[in-house]
Amino acid sequence: MEIHQMAEMHPGAIAYHEGRYLPVEEARISILTHAFNYGTGLFEGIRGYYAEEEDNILVFRLKEHIDRFVRNFNIMCMEIPETAADIETVCLEVVQRSGFREGVYIRPICYKSEHSLGPTVRGVKSSFSCYIIKLGDYVNITDGLDVAVSSWRRLSDNAIPSRAKSTGSYINSSLAATEAKQAGFHEAIFLREDGTVAEGSAMNLFMVQNGALVTPPPTADILVGITRNTVMELTTAELGLPVIERPIARTELYVCDELFFCGTGAQVAPVRSVDRRIIGGGTVGPITKQLQDLYFEVVTGKVAKYRGWCTPVYG
Ligand code: PMP
Repeated sequence: MEIHQMAEMHPGAIAYHEGRYLPVEEARISILTHAFNYGTGLFEGIRGYYAEEEDNILVFRLKEHIDRFVRNFNIMCMEIPETAADIETVCLEVVQRSGFREGVYIRPICYKSEHSLGPTVRGVKSSFSCYIIKLGDYVNITDGLDVAVSSWRRLSDNAIPSRAKSTGSYINSSLAATEAKQAGFHEAIFLREDGTVAEGSAMNLFMVQNGALVTPPPTADILVGITRNTVMELTTAELGLPVIERPIARTELYVCDELFFCGTGAQVAPVRSVDRRIIGGGTVGPITKQLQDLYFEVVTGKVAKYRGWCTPVYG
């Protein structure tokens, strides 16, 4: 399933907009909206996994997503009446009210809703909305992806804050992903302006080298992913392997043992080639596979120790 399937294609989906719950096709904004004109929106992407044995949807790391969301309000000078607790409730309630019993993707979004001209964020009214779509796998997670280093550079934190999941910043991601796909690759890898590795178009990156995981630090113009954190925790606690945050040079990607992306959409997605160079054996590496299997056990609520990361939607 492709993520660009439109919300309208999911009959019965209920959204939260302007303080009330309503069918998603009725949740509309004006073309005068500040965020529509200037890209001044901030959002989250959260997955809910359908756990068949309990006939429930488990929302993964809801608290951490909402915490990142509301912290980033400070970058964008956003103030809304809804508290973090209210936003969590809305995220669960749009799923409940839609009545879905399959994998979902929840999209809370806070945006400059004022009908005003002028590129500023301070003093411009913000509003909060939330919608959901049904979502399966976003990228192929079985065979390994063929990726290319992008000719587009990852936006710098001092230009458009990379740690904020802002709507405008996805121009950068869209250009890189489009270039990669047009050239016959599945995904792109962004370098930073200094030439070191940042991440994928909408996913973080890990390489496996000499039995350790290596990933760029939070200062490397990345979105500091919740899945990145999950992978780091599971690697140290369950696999007993070290995780190193440090700058990565482009050619390190060509000579590493294993490489994978991770993100809410991407989940844990192995990479089998970079710039047509085969990575490792060209198959899913053993550590990546172990992490991927563990990740799916955890997100579907099967590992008691990590059950606290899963919030049930129904009851
Ligand atoms: N980087 C970017 C640019 C992203 O859009 C995403 C998806 N939210 C990620 C990384 C992964 O973040 P997370 O694990 O929090 O979904």
